[in-house]
Amino acid sequence: MKRFGPAELLQDVIDKKLCIGCGACIHLCPYFRSYRGRTAMIFPCTKSEGRCWAYCPKVEVDLDALSQTFFGGPYKKDALGYYRSIHMSRAGSKAKIKKGAVQAGGTVSALMSFALAKGLLDAAVLTGKEGLLPVPRIVTDAREALRVGSSKYAAAPTLAALNQAIKEGYKKIGVVGTPCQVLAVARMRTNPMDDPAFVDPFALVVGLFCTWSIDFRLFEPFLAKRVAIAEITKVDIPPPPSEIMEVYAAGEKIKIPLGEVRELVPDTCSYCIDMTSEFSDLSVGVLEGRPDMNTLIIRTERGERIVNDAVKGGFLVVEAMPAENLEHLVWAAGNKKKRAFVKAGEAGMVNTSEGTRSYLRVNPRTCADIIG
Ligand SMILES: Cc1cc2nc3c(=O)[nH]c(=O)nc-3n(C[C@H](O)[C@H](O)[C@H](O)COP(=O)(O)OP(=O)(O)OC[C@H]3O[C@@H](n4cnc5c(N)ncnc54)[C@H](O)[C@@H]3O)c2cc1C
Ligand code: SF4
Ligand code: SF4
Repeated sequence: MKRFGPAELLQDVIDKKLCIGCGACIHLCPYFRSYRGRTAMIFPCTKSEGRCWAYCPKVEVDLDALSQTFFGGPYKKDALGYYRSIHMSRAGSKAKIKKGAVQAGGTVSALMSFALAKGLLDAAVLTGKEGLLPVPRIVTDAREALRVGSSKYAAAPTLAALNQAIKEGYKKIGVVGTPCQVLAVARMRTNPMDDPAFVDPFALVVGLFCTWSIDFRLFEPFLAKRVAIAEITKVDIPPPPSEIMEVYAAGEKIKIPLGEVRELVPDTCSYCIDMTSEFSDLSVGVLEGRPDMNTLIIRTERGERIVNDAVKGGFLVVEAMPAENLEHLVWAAGNKKKRAFVKAGEAGMVNTSEGTRSYLRVNPRTCADIIG
């Protein structure tokens, strides 16, 4: 694959407002910076090739090549991608999760805390917050991992901390991210710049489910009109059919219709084909009808091993997934994939001809099967 650099990243992603602010291009050089939800190039860089371009999940993503690397086969038309098994899960008693500290069942916090406690990770890259602003964190202490729980619905530059963790020399890194962030991590793991000294530093990649996120620059003033930002303790979007965002502040619960919240979603999310973080070891989402549980997709052997060990250690509880929940998950993820492929195809961003750059590359037959 031909490689490009910062000029093309600006032209293809940032100028076209396709940047989601994932942070994958931050802390690699002095030029790209992330500030309160915005990614910008603060000084010009003239390099013809760069990791910024090679890691970005919004340009020249070769889905078949990534699938081949991580799952040994081409990208599949299936809604959920490659996986070994699907369960419902929650944190076990040994995880010692405090009430209200996690989003749903606490599966993600329990897994990261377990992996740090057992030395499977030397650092976990997580996303905490300052007020409403999502703030990436490098966490090395198992108890600290439990204090960074809960979903921040604004897109976060989590991978800036990941690049920092790699620079600081961590060798067994765990990361939690949205599907776009997990896609960037997958690109990093293929050593796209052919660095002869490259060693994959990722010991665990946990992907969240995501239908869309919110532009922080719009979210803060939107909520400030309704509630004192400093008093917000939690924001939740219960699974369908609720169609509301719940904001907990000063002992009260404020309900906002999702129709109003969707106005704050950046357009780039409508081009996003992945709802369940298909390139992760483990994917975690909420479970319809059970706010105390998560949906857990096990995709890789090492993910399966960590889940089994966490269950044995009392950090995680895993149960059979109800058939009707699985059916709805497949429907929702398939719908998102189809909508995004149709939109990206219509915008001329899939499989463009040699010499021009695409957002996605995939076997045209697979693309046709997804669009239907
Ligand atoms: C923007 C966004 C959209 C989502 N959309 C859906 C959806 O449509 N359907 C669905 O089933 N689930 C969705 N989720 C996932 C869901 O909200 C829970 O995160 C997931 O079910 C795990 O729950 P938990 O109780 O195990 O999480 P916890 O144990 O509370 O852990 C949550 C972890 O998420 C990480 N995190 C929080 N915010 C962000 C962020 N902005 N970017 C990267 N990492 C973050 C933190 O590091 C934390 O470790 C979304 C999450 C986010 C952040
Ligand atoms: S790597 Fe992430 S933050 Fe950087 S331009 Fe691409 S989407 Fe934006
Ligand atoms: S919808 Fe896609 S691009 Fe938008 S935040 Fe979620 S994973 Fe990222």
